[in-house]
Amino acid sequence: MTSAVTMRGVSRHFGSVRAVDGVDLEIREGEFFAMLGPSGSGKTTCLRLIAGFEQPTAGHIEIFGETAEGVPPYRRNVNTVFQSYALFPHMNVRENVAFGLRVKGVGRAERARAAEEALALVELAGYGERRAGELSGGQRQRVALARALVNKPKVLLLDEPLGALDLKLREQMQEELRRLQRALGLTFVFVTHDQEEALSMADRVAVFAEGRMQQVGSAEEIYRRPASRFVADFVGSSNVIPADLAGAGPAGAWASLRPEDIRLDPAGRAARVTGRFFHGRVVKLHLDLGGQHLTALVAPAETLPEPGTETRISWDLGRVHVMEAGA
Ligand code: ATP
Repeated sequence: MTSAVTMRGVSRHFGSVRAVDGVDLEIREGEFFAMLGPSGSGKTTCLRLIAGFEQPTAGHIEIFGETAEGVPPYRRNVNTVFQSYALFPHMNVRENVAFGLRVKGVGRAERARAAEEALALVELAGYGERRAGELSGGQRQRVALARALVNKPKVLLLDEPLGALDLKLREQMQEELRRLQRALGLTFVFVTHDQEEALSMADRVAVFAEGRMQQVGSAEEIYRRPASRFVADFVGSSNVIPADLAGAGPAGAWASLRPEDIRLDPAGRAARVTGRFFHGRVVKLHLDLGGQHLTALVAPAETLPEPGTETRISWDLGRVHVMEAGA
């Protein structure tokens, strides 16, 4: 397996701020890799380090096995798509897409051909003459993508590229990005703070907090076997409760229990309902189990327990994940 990007002990400190702190990471060629974490956790700085817009204060970065040290951004075989798109509003779509090629000295005819090809990839064939300022948000996003793809990068870095889109468009673009990534066989490194987006799109996800990588693995691994309380809580808002209360381990250890794995069960354990919230396809219940707060997601039904009453709940022990002490 070829490594597209390797980070070894990489840090980027700004004075006393440890934006990125000792990250070891290998991104494989051809994978859709997501960096997930709350605001300020160091995702963007990580991306900027790979792109070459930032230099590490410690550690080492390799791109396709070659050191990135001293290699300027435009010679790194990587391209970035920013959330802000950064299109030139006075230029038309074709000129925007071909801009990078013009800077590199590619001739006019070849530029037009390459721009048309990139626009077709993002399903904007025939939009070349439009002014960028006249496009919708979703179309601008596609132009920004075409502008990166036209350079034929081996690695595409995407910094919250869908953050400015409304939910429906966002879901459509998620599918489209996935399709493009598969069709072109490129390596995508995708930054997001949206856990659903990361889990649904990526082959592997790295979870960041406070400049450190907390866990890396497939969506399934991260979701089912969180390595720490932070990951369990951030990804899927798990219930983190004492393992003995979950019936899954010794006192002192912690367990995570997914809200959707808790079910109403007349033969289960008694819990008090402290809140009930209708969310369309699911109902969220707040529960008190022996003084411990739990959230459960259950299917809407006519006979759901009322807040203030007692109900009975159970879960499969196989769904409970026990975390190492101190995690
Ligand atoms: P967001 O989702 O909000 O963009 P992020 O996870 O991408 O957050 P970064 O932008 O990488 O986080 O920032 C990590 C930390 O480093 C933050 O505390 C930020 O304020 C700090 N930081 C980033 N760039 C600089 C800079 N040029 N100078 C000083 N501090 C910086």
